[in-house]
Amino acid sequence: MVRAMKLFTCDNCQQTLYFENSRCVNCGETLGYCPDLARLATLRHPVDASAGIYEIERRQYRQCRNTHELDACNWLVDSDSDSDYCRSCSLSEVIPDLSDAANDAAWRRIEAAKRRLLYTLYALRLPVQTRLENPDRGLAFRFLKGSEDAPVMTGHDAGIITLNIDEADVAFRENMREKMGEGYRTVLGHLRHEVGHYYWDRLVADSNLLDTFRDQFGDERADYEKALDRHYGSGPPANWGESFISAYATMHPWEDFAETWAHYLHMVDTLETAKSHGLTVRTPAAEKAGERVVTERLAFVDFDALSNGWNAVTLALNSLNRSMGEKDAYPFVLTAPVMEKLRFVHRLIQAPVLSQVYAAA
Ligand SMILES: [Zn+2]
Ligand SMILES: [Zn+2]
Ligand SMILES: [Zn+2]
Repeated sequence: MVRAMKLFTCDNCQQTLYFENSRCVNCGETLGYCPDLARLATLRHPVDASAGIYEIERRQYRQCRNTHELDACNWLVDSDSDSDYCRSCSLSEVIPDLSDAANDAAWRRIEAAKRRLLYTLYALRLPVQTRLENPDRGLAFRFLKGSEDAPVMTGHDAGIITLNIDEADVAFRENMREKMGEGYRTVLGHLRHEVGHYYWDRLVADSNLLDTFRDQFGDERADYEKALDRHYGSGPPANWGESFISAYATMHPWEDFAETWAHYLHMVDTLETAKSHGLTVRTPAAEKAGERVVTERLAFVDFDALSNGWNAVTLALNSLNRSMGEKDAYPFVLTAPVMEKLRFVHRLIQAPVLSQVYAAA
């Protein structure tokens, strides 16, 4: 069984690594991430040097084509796979023209964020079908560079996620964030939001949860175009913070769901990282003075424990950022109605999966 989000360490020297590393920062060994095993392995002795095949836990892998051709990926490909590309790279249906240096830099950042997105989707055992497996509804990504005449709109349509690659440009993104009055805007956040629309289609649209969804998020049959015009015409309601995670979430129930979904992924990924580093923090709630959240013992299956842990960890995280002169990492207020929406996503992903994958120590 794959247990997700362990601390990544070098097999050779036990140095703690980042998920994104392709080489050990301490001993210099080449690394490859194995999505089946959720493990960053050192690639020392190929079992077949000419074909570049490595054995990890008795299974055989080779490096992704984007690794040896462009040094743009650190994932491994199952040696039986028909594709030269890893599971993440093979989902990229359209990429920008890489002969342009700015496009190339943007694309690398976007692919790195996509790998992290997929990491959590696999950890949560969510279905990730390709267009080959499901030509009408499979997941695929289009990373496009717009122009003045043909701007690119970031969005989701029947499994296809389009991202305007300008979002990977820090100056552009910060400017947009200011203009839209947002506290948080990242490439990873965009991808987590857009994939929320994909999973709404897969997990909510035809399920017996649709009525519960409508009770909590509103009726998604409301005209989307009108909602869009209203949102950009007159802005969000003044009291949106009482029951929405963001101003954008007020636009339409679909957007509310996608925003909530993204936050749920922020929550489990960040808490699991905290857990893998053995983080313990004080509980901020006055009535729980003196209590601590020991993330290593956090029961991910229990939504109340998860949300309590999240409150404590994000307060510490924001305070650490302020100490470094940075803006808050998580500039959001989670009110009771927002928490209930997050609980809906939690139920959707199912407690049995969470208890298996994120077992408490
Ligand atoms: Zn090492
Ligand atoms: Zn790859
Ligand atoms: Zn959306």
